[in-house]
Amino acid sequence: MSYDLIIRNGHVIDPASQHDSVASVAIRDGRIAEVGEIEADASPELDAGGRYVLPGLIDLHTHLFKDFSMFGIDVDALSPRTGVTTSVDTGTAGWINYAGFRKVIMEPAETRVLAYVNLSGVGLPWRSGEMVFEGYVQPAACAQAILDFPENTVGVKVRLYRGVGGDADLRDLLQIAIDAAQRCEKQLMVHISGSDVPVAELLSPLRPGDVITHCFHGGEIASILDSAGKVRPEVRDARDRGIVFDIGHGFGSFSFDVGRAAMEDGFPPDTISSDIHTLNIDGPVYDLPTTISKFLHLGMPLDEAVRRSTLEPARVLGMEDEIGSLAVGSVADVSVFDLEEGAFELVDSDEVKVTGDRKLTCYATVKDGRVSYRAT
Ligand SMILES: [Zn+2]
Repeated sequence: MSYDLIIRNGHVIDPASQHDSVASVAIRDGRIAEVGEIEADASPELDAGGRYVLPGLIDLHTHLFKDFSMFGIDVDALSPRTGVTTSVDTGTAGWINYAGFRKVIMEPAETRVLAYVNLSGVGLPWRSGEMVFEGYVQPAACAQAILDFPENTVGVKVRLYRGVGGDADLRDLLQIAIDAAQRCEKQLMVHISGSDVPVAELLSPLRPGDVITHCFHGGEIASILDSAGKVRPEVRDARDRGIVFDIGHGFGSFSFDVGRAAMEDGFPPDTISSDIHTLNIDGPVYDLPTTISKFLHLGMPLDEAVRRSTLEPARVLGMEDEIGSLAVGSVADVSVFDLEEGAFELVDSDEVKVTGDRKLTCYATVKDGRVSYRAT
């Protein structure tokens, strides 16, 4: 039997197929063809001995509208060298300029790019945010932009921080965002950090499948924790009825203290994402593997951290039969990582520094069956 590529003898962790042992992964025609002990033959090989072989990482929260937003990063410059094969832009483009985002960013990218469309028509052009003026917030137009381009469009994004809508009540803005999402029958992702509305009031109107991002932000208002540092009952109820809690580390939205308290209280995040953009790519975020390493530091087992950056985001996207998995037949998106041991400084969004003892470093990335990155 001959394959296009065999990734040989790595420690395969694939939560989707509950695989957690040393094995080889064979790829043919851009799909996973076989996982296990694979007989030697003349196929091209990638030696993964002593390394971890994972599904290609899925970053559920990124900003990729380069040259059109001061936040946008170069997705193909970052993703391959960090094991990310799918990157989801979260509302850097709005309903006015989404067609341009698709043409300039999504379609030419080597990385698989999906997107949420910002409720504000112009998206997120600059630091002060979306410029949510009355005319820019049109739920019908937002829904139509999504219906015009359903492929790779995940849903609506709204940022609910104090002042984003001028004097408008954030509860009203949330209702408009839900209206937009309902009109196109898509999910809504809600940014909660910096909000002046308690989290329970932001959660109650959400529907199963909607996503809260920045769930471990360190601000007091709209925190998932109560004043005693315990997870609020409304937050647990929301998870029970299918609301997704995403990290979205970002420049100002991930706190080790909140993460530690939530996880000690039995509330890990559903998905681990970076919220990578130009203002945090040189720290404190750097990339998704660094964000995952912070969860290893907080005590999350490696296989759980992998699940929350592969299978779980694939489920949020409704693509778990295609990506985020090394099951035979899945798209051949694979990442190979070294888990380095040592002393690594890790910094959160509140400039709290810790010393981690393990750090994930990408060795190789395979996208659609082709090697897109290999460390030299
Ligand atoms: Zn963001």
